Amino acid sequence: MEAEWLEALPRLRQLVGDRNFTTWIEPIRCEKNGNGLCLEVSSRFFQEWVTRHFLSAIRQALTRADGTVPALRIVVTGKEARPPAAPVAPSAPQARPAAPRMPKIGRLVPDYTFQTFVVGESNEVAYQAVRALAEFPGRRFNPMFLCGGVGLGKTHLINALAHALLARPQRRRIACLPAEAFMNTLITALRQDQMGSFRDRFRELDVLILDDVHFLAGKERTQEEFFHTFNALHLSGRQIVLTSDKPPHAIADLEQRLRSRFEGGLIVDIHPPTGAMRIAIVARKAAAQGVDLPLEVASLVAQRSGPSVRELEGALTRVLATVALRGVPLTAAAVEMLLAPVAPVAIMLSVETIQERVSHHFGVSVTDLKSHRRDRSVTFARQIAMYLSRTLAQVSFPSIAEKFGGRDHSTVMHAVRKVEYKRAHDPDAGQLLMTLENDLRSRPSA
Ligand code: ADP
Ligand code: MG
Repeated sequence: MEAEWLEALPRLRQLVGDRNFTTWIEPIRCEKNGNGLCLEVSSRFFQEWVTRHFLSAIRQALTRADGTVPALRIVVTGKEARPPAAPVAPSAPQARPAAPRMPKIGRLVPDYTFQTFVVGESNEVAYQAVRALAEFPGRRFNPMFLCGGVGLGKTHLINALAHALLARPQRRRIACLPAEAFMNTLITALRQDQMGSFRDRFRELDVLILDDVHFLAGKERTQEEFFHTFNALHLSGRQIVLTSDKPPHAIADLEQRLRSRFEGGLIVDIHPPTGAMRIAIVARKAAAQGVDLPLEVASLVAQRSGPSVRELEGALTRVLATVALRGVPLTAAAVEMLLAPVAPVAIMLSVETIQERVSHHFGVSVTDLKSHRRDRSVTFARQIAMYLSRTLAQVSFPSIAEKFGGRDHSTVMHAVRKVEYKRAHDPDAGQLLMTLENDLRSRPSA
């Protein structure tokens, strides 16, 4: 490993904090590259994440005595610098040969694989994160928390992950089930006085994938049991993957200790697909059914269905079924008749909702946000609210200024720039903004 890099590591650890350091910096291999350095990472996801969140810290830590910074390249090699810290224990490697593999607990949908998953801007980060995890479970992103609205592919992705893990020669003990099924199993065990074997079953897993954990809201007994299961697995380096239609902090009636466990891992968002990706999904789904959809037809279906992938599929199914039943040719005109135009996919967010949600998040009042108070906590919350009003609600600078106590619009411009800068340079700020954006997108009105 390159000496210059090794020397920079302690400084880098200070800059990014222990947790980020172990997760993102330690796995990087560094080699000399002419007069500069080449940083090697294990996946594209890793590359993007490191570039987005830590590049400036890396540059800072590598600044030489004369003030210059070595030229940096971040490349994907699929290798990691450090061998696994806590490898998932392979149970009897190469045991029985490949029969169709099913998880120890739960069931999988055979078609939900990585091959059938269409990747685009809206789900790329989540896809890459799950792919990376399929390579090295239990090590870095633990727990992984996939977060996105209904019908955006969360269940599909975790099934794909389970299929990939089961296809490996190491036979891992995997559970993949909805949170609701976890609860039902628990209730049965309680009723039949079999809590001992319930605990054994879950605590001997190598990978636990729990779908739709927002379902646990308000289910106190289940939350308590899950908390213990979670700890038992997490402490011994076993992988936990969770999905939810809301970020952890927005799940009502969730015990604080569970929430903080969920927030302690990697939270990745899936957004609704847009533009060309919608057309690609329609075309791929049609092709899977043996239909070669003309582009014109695919794009009309994409335009005329609701925001989620499930709605896209629904619209396509209607079109294909009707066309087959009536025996009419599959043309744009036929689709025009079948699918009514829908309102464009847009988030209707008001500045007021943003102010309210941000004030709640920071524990300051909306009045404070609009006031001229200059304490740091209020100022920061105010800047974030202004930034979100501009980026998410797309309100003009003067209107935002007006809604924040009649300030000058240059104040708002300054705030937005400041938050943009923070977002690019401070991973915690990035994470915070992502959480807030997610919450606002999933609940665009109060
Ligand atoms: P969620 O669990 O987020 O509510 P699902 O995983 O059940 O959503 O997805 C809904 C439907 O849309 C499924 O049939 C799934 O196969 C399909 N789907 C979602 N995202 C994609 C994608 N990126 N590529 C292909 N199919 C997708
Ligand atoms: Mg689902």
